[in-house]
Amino acid sequence: MQGPRFASPKLAARKLTALDATIEAATAHGVKVSANIVIPDRSHVDRVLRIIERHGRAVIVRMLVSLEDGGASIDAMQAVVDHLGAVPVSRIVTAGASDQRVRYRLPDGRTLYAKSIRPARLPETCTGCRFNNDRDCQEGYYGVRLYRAADGPFMVGVCIRRMDLCMSLGEFVMSQRCHEVAAFRADEAARLTKLHATTLRAG
Ligand code: SF4
Repeated sequence: MQGPRFASPKLAARKLTALDATIEAATAHGVKVSANIVIPDRSHVDRVLRIIERHGRAVIVRMLVSLEDGGASIDAMQAVVDHLGAVPVSRIVTAGASDQRVRYRLPDGRTLYAKSIRPARLPETCTGCRFNNDRDCQEGYYGVRLYRAADGPFMVGVCIRRMDLCMSLGEFVMSQRCHEVAAFRADEAARLTKLHATTLRAG
């Protein structure tokens, strides 16, 4: 709603109404709805609080760190958490992908997530990638995604920055890359389990 295309308040209002109707229809039919909201800095705190207030019952809200804004973004997420009196319940780390999140419980029992990124790179594919540095690839490896080519087959991608790596589903399941993805996840699951078992014992 904030892009130049939505400079017309009428068009933005229509889009927001459509969004409300979508959320209502989904929840009325038992479809789980989640909303990812990027928070660049403290100037967005009020906007996020309004969204949580308005939709937080029907929608699971996930605040996302803005990779370009780093510390300012994390600080703003903390401001939302403090304002709501949210209590951290668990930390979820996804093995084999850069996703990690903290689950919070709000005083009225609702759930709120704060998502951030941890360094994760595919051992073979990312090593040879021209974007493999902290500036060009801040998100890292985020997991596989399924696409449908226009009038074509289902495709599997491993990186939104490198769509040239997409393969048809059939090709992917038989490929070395599929093996690499699965092995990376298994290795990380074992490593993280061991690491956090040690941390829990030490704590
Ligand atoms: S841009 Fe994609 S393929 Fe390249 S290093 Fe980053 S995650 Fe890996």
